[in-house]
Amino acid sequence: MSEELMRALIAKCNATIAAHADELTALDRPIGDGDHGQNMARGFSALAAAADEIAPLPFGQALQKAGTALVMKIGGASGPLYGSLLMAMGKAVEARPAGTKAAAAMLGAGIEAVKARGKSDAGAKTMLDVLVPVQEALAAGATIAQVRDVADAALAATKDMRATKGRAAFVGERSIGHLDPGARSATLLIHAICDVLEAK
Ligand code: ADP
Ligand code: MG
Repeated sequence: MSEELMRALIAKCNATIAAHADELTALDRPIGDGDHGQNMARGFSALAAAADEIAPLPFGQALQKAGTALVMKIGGASGPLYGSLLMAMGKAVEARPAGTKAAAAMLGAGIEAVKARGKSDAGAKTMLDVLVPVQEALAAGATIAQVRDVADAALAATKDMRATKGRAAFVGERSIGHLDPGARSATLLIHAICDVLEAK
């Protein structure tokens, strides 16, 4: 992973989250507290501001440092969860990460950290409902186009789920019929990463 690619990933993720902050916040209103967009935008703009320090590092260290930046700035439930995801992915990076299988292994390690931190699993109407199917698709050798489609379908499927974790669990049955904001932010980030990798 080159420094240039890392810079492009940080910039694209930040731009995507900034462009969709209002949408994420609107999704968090009916089943949460209406702060997911601001939380994510704050975290990713801090990450972008630290790009000069992060991008030159070896890939695994860069991911860990990015995770730390997100934990400190996002706040909410999603800050520690996205932070844990990136830190664990960074720790799982092999010396020369390349290809779909390496990405699957890395994301798998990140997902385990999110599950442990959130005491949750897929099916609870959270970001895991997008991350887990995407990881499974990568493990099965999916193309970039397939990864995008898997993420989109997984996001759509959160609509009919009943939340059992996070703030949305408090509204119980009334969480049904709304997309999960964290699943939407995860989908946006996956699209951003796919776009950058495709253009490289
Ligand atoms: P908060 O809920 O503290 O206001 P955010 O609004 O930033 O934090 O993030 C909410 C999102 O975090 C949810 O939509 C969900 O995807 C994710 N989330 C919350 N709790 C958990 C959990 N225990 N495990 C996995 N993801 C979770
Ligand atoms: Mg919230």
